[in-house]
Amino acid sequence: MSKANSSETKSPRFTCEQCGITFSTNDEKEEHIKLEHSEHKPPSGVA
Ligand SMILES: [Zn+2]
Repeated sequence: MSKANSSETKSPRFTCEQCGITFSTNDEKEEHIKLEHSEHKPPSGVA
């Protein structure tokens, strides 16, 4: 494998460490994690 060093990062990308999806804002990443990777769900059986 070859590692490519891309130092030119104008726009910061927030990558979900759990699935690898990249987001343009940290808010989107946090929201995605809450929606897709919510391990601790609230004790409410209302779906
Ligand atoms: Zn994810």
